[in-house]
Amino acid sequence: MVIRSAQFVCSNSDVKSCPAPKLPEYAFIGRSNVGKSSLINMLCNTRKLAKTSSTPGKTQLINHFLINNSWYLVDLPGYGFARVGQSLREKFSKIIADYLNARTNMMCLFVLIDARLEPQTLDMDFMRSAALSQIPFAMIFTKADKLKPGALMRNIEYYKKTMLQEWAELPQMFISSAENGMGKDDILNFIEEVNTR
Ligand code: GDP
Repeated sequence: MVIRSAQFVCSNSDVKSCPAPKLPEYAFIGRSNVGKSSLINMLCNTRKLAKTSSTPGKTQLINHFLINNSWYLVDLPGYGFARVGQSLREKFSKIIADYLNARTNMMCLFVLIDARLEPQTLDMDFMRSAALSQIPFAMIFTKADKLKPGALMRNIEYYKKTMLQEWAELPQMFISSAENGMGKDDILNFIEEVNTR
């Protein structure tokens, strides 16, 4: 799929104010600083659709973008901020849970994982609760350019091995780099394929 148009629609902290669920939508989530804004901008061929920042926890709301007038890309707040207080953390968890429970048009949640890190409890816990709630999700390993190919493959194999200790099957996995565009076609083709199912 080629992205011909990408428009910001709205920012909400309450899922009830999100656009009517008349179009399929695909949401992106991950720990703050995982490279979510950079990935969204890379997918949409822009530098500034999602605000990129080196300050963790900047995306604090549910942001809807209309893509090709036919589906929504949703930028969700990052989870697991080291630098915000407990009450803000709880507020974000509630926003995320409310969103995931309410949006029947959410076709796939992309959970972003920093390809450089070994499996993190926070990410594993988040994916486990998504699976228990029957949320369809896929994983995207980000910042792949920061690793040599051998180290990248070793990290991903280790991730798979760790997940298979408790999961009967693995979710769909993608590898991306906002630096060099890796993963862009795979992710967009996957979205197109789900949209036409
Ligand atoms: P967010 O908080 O998850 O939205 O993360 P950002 O997109 O703001 O990225 C956090 C930092 O990681 C920024 O300094 C980005 O330039 C950097 N970054 C993000 N994606 C990549 C990538 O694919 N490759 C490299 N080398 N750096 C990246």
